[in-house]
Amino acid sequence: MNAHGDSEPLDPTTLRKRAEQRIAERVHSREALTADADIHRLVHELQVHEIELAMQVEELQDSRAQIEAERARYVDLYDFAPMGYLTLSRDDGRIAAANLAAATMLGVNRAALLRGTLAQYVDRDDRSVLATCLASAASSTARAHCELRLVTPSAVVRFVHVECVPSADSTTLRVSLLDITDRRAAEEQLQLRDRAMQVVPHGIVITDPRQLDNPIVYVNSGFEAMSGYPASEAVGRNCRFLQGADTDPETVRTIRAAVKLGVACSVELLNYRRTGESYWCTLSITPVRDATGRLVQFIGVQVDISERRTLERALQEAQRMESVGRLAGGIAHDFNNLLTVINGSSDYLQGELRSDQSLREVALDIVDASARATVLTRQLLTFGRRQPMTMHVLDLTRLVNETAAMLRRVIGEDIDLRVDVSAPSAHVRGDSALFEQVLVNLALNARDAMPEGGTLTIRTDKVLVDEAYRSAHNDVSDLYHASQREMRSGTYVVLTVTDTGVGMDAETVTRIFEPFFTTKSAGKGTGLGLSVVHGVVQQSRGYITVSSEIDRGTTFRIFLPVATAAAAVAPVAVGQRPGSFETILLVEDDASVRTLARRTLIAHGHRVLDASDGAHALRVAADYVGDIHLLLTDVVMPHMGGRALAETLRQSRPATRVLYMSGYPDDEVLRRGVRQERVAFLEKPFTQVALAAKVREILDAPIAHRGA
Ligand code: ADP
Repeated sequence: MNAHGDSEPLDPTTLRKRAEQRIAERVHSREALTADADIHRLVHELQVHEIELAMQVEELQDSRAQIEAERARYVDLYDFAPMGYLTLSRDDGRIAAANLAAATMLGVNRAALLRGTLAQYVDRDDRSVLATCLASAASSTARAHCELRLVTPSAVVRFVHVECVPSADSTTLRVSLLDITDRRAAEEQLQLRDRAMQVVPHGIVITDPRQLDNPIVYVNSGFEAMSGYPASEAVGRNCRFLQGADTDPETVRTIRAAVKLGVACSVELLNYRRTGESYWCTLSITPVRDATGRLVQFIGVQVDISERRTLERALQEAQRMESVGRLAGGIAHDFNNLLTVINGSSDYLQGELRSDQSLREVALDIVDASARATVLTRQLLTFGRRQPMTMHVLDLTRLVNETAAMLRRVIGEDIDLRVDVSAPSAHVRGDSALFEQVLVNLALNARDAMPEGGTLTIRTDKVLVDEAYRSAHNDVSDLYHASQREMRSGTYVVLTVTDTGVGMDAETVTRIFEPFFTTKSAGKGTGLGLSVVHGVVQQSRGYITVSSEIDRGTTFRIFLPVATAAAAVAPVAVGQRPGSFETILLVEDDASVRTLARRTLIAHGHRVLDASDGAHALRVAADYVGDIHLLLTDVVMPHMGGRALAETLRQSRPATRVLYMSGYPDDEVLRRGVRQERVAFLEKPFTQVALAAKVREILDAPIAHRGA
């Protein structure tokens, strides 16, 4: 600006013109009138110069103020810029200038900064990065940049983006520092989240409902592993390609409705893998909205629950079996009491009717029918797991050899029986009578499966089941594994029963162990045979597997844990001595069973005191002055059960031996006692001979059997 307020600088002509004008304004002053003309002119010139100079000074002052203001503005900008600016000497890299932001970033005051180099504030590992960047800028006129970590003297670490450019005269390098610590942290957070999404074992799918048909925009590795579809094949498609023939349309409608309404939903869904195999999953979908509340994504999380579903089904099946078993066991128990009477009475009758042949045959028919009914109740009890097993160590190879002749009769002449017992001895713990039953049941089924004849092969082997065996013998896992639990590692005796019969389809195979499941016509099959086999195997801590193919035959494999032969228990020899007038306290609430037992015991020379329940028995015992050699008691009775009775009685009569009888040994303590052979037990129904023999055995045993 000049003195007249113009912003343009004045040229000499204008300057002179204005000076003249000012002098003219003074013409009428007193000094002007008195001055000589020359002097007047000289003075005039000088005045013009003076004014010119004054105006120039004025103008210079204005420019200087303007420059000062500009400079202050620049210093402000430089110092308070959010970025750090440094000027480095090109020769030795020392910091020649720095703004406040740079000093703050480097954590020192500006004066201290000016004595050092930038490298001394850079993390050791990143110094070579800086050196390369500076060298590259120094050798060209182009910008060079890099990212590195700064470390302040108080050890604060900052990530910075560095830009470097040489000055116009090439004597210095100008460096700018942009703090990217927060951006880096945010990026790392995002990467962390992304990595977490990738490692989650569940399937994560993100769809974009803003696009046509809500396509998938992201899937994680969990999804790829679960579905078998790589991300490249899934992204861009609507999720419906995962559904298939058996996916419930109602569930699909629920999902669609939720997507349409933009709300969350959770369902159990049958999806299909890339291989075509189906799998059950829980699917939870959740809408994601942006800051303005607009729906931008759906996140779907899939969890594979196929295994849980299978377990649930197995549990339901087991519960069903359990309840049917309880029912069957209960019926069998009542049957046993009746059969004891029928057995005993018919035994007695046919003994008494020696003289009348025709009546004796009738009695024999009753004995026969009753024996068959006894086998059936035994099957029912075994199946209902209420059949006490007389566990001992037995040689399965020997059992197969000994049963072979009987099995040949069972299967008939059209079927060739091959016994291939490669294990010379195969000791397992179990009940030989029940194992015989298993062989008979399997042979009977094989016979029915080969109406035109064929071959039935029975093998025993010894195998070590371990990881290697499991992977080498796919059949162990591929077969229908009826035991439904992972086979424990160890040595097993394997009983293999193979036929060349009609075989079964996969659906039948999964049902054959169900009680009462039969494909045979009425009267031909009861559907109990394999349930019993299953029950016996379970009770023996074994496993059973099946493989079968239509028209190609069936193979059952029973794995039983091997037992050491040393543990074998010799069967107790039953003394045949007649009764020697020992006194027996007989306690039984069922009057007909009591009468029959009483009659039998008396017939065998014993003295019998009888009672209908525990309390009654204690009264009878209290009134009796002589020895009571044996307490023969039912286990389950009203008022006082057999065990409580035995315990009470032994307090006053410690020498009394105890024999329990029951058709329903549901008492766990008693069962354990029987297993450990501490408690004597007679299973109902019993024949008169069996009762007499057992009583004799107990009375003759060297150590008294104690009540459990
Ligand atoms: P049942 O023999 O009384 O029918 P099971 O429980 O023994 O009862 O057998 C159930 C069903 O399993 C049979 O009806 C049959 O369909 C099938 N099955 C069992 N064993 C065989 C076999 N060896 N070959 C073909 N089918 C079999």
